[in-house]
Amino acid sequence: MVDYALQRRALLADVRAGRVGPEEVCDAGAYLHRAARFHGTTVEQTCPMCRKEPLAQVSWVFGESLRHVSGSARSTEDLEQLAAHHAEFTVHVVEVCRSCGWNHLVRSYVLGTGRRPRRGRRTAGG
Ligand SMILES: [Zn+2]
Repeated sequence: MVDYALQRRALLADVRAGRVGPEEVCDAGAYLHRAARFHGTTVEQTCPMCRKEPLAQVSWVFGESLRHVSGSARSTEDLEQLAAHHAEFTVHVVEVCRSCGWNHLVRSYVLGTGRRPRRGRRTAGG
């Protein structure tokens, strides 16, 4: 699992120092807002930018074996389903503020059964 807390802290420090404008970090688009509303989990952490709203965390899935599902936002239940049926895919958890539009990658990790599809590849030794 990769944790992006350091990058997040560095970015927030840049915003506070005026090196990065708030409009550059509070740029969640309509798609991300909608994903936060329908697939997001509200966490007990207030938005670091506006301090008005609790943040929502949205899980995005990426992976060749997911086909058309790749690149979409998924709920926790969906993740469990996908993990039971696919060998390997990556989950990117993004936090979103529904008030000001702050968004940042929180962490990424790999899910799946771990079984590689047996297709055209010979394994040594087996
Ligand atoms: Zn906010």
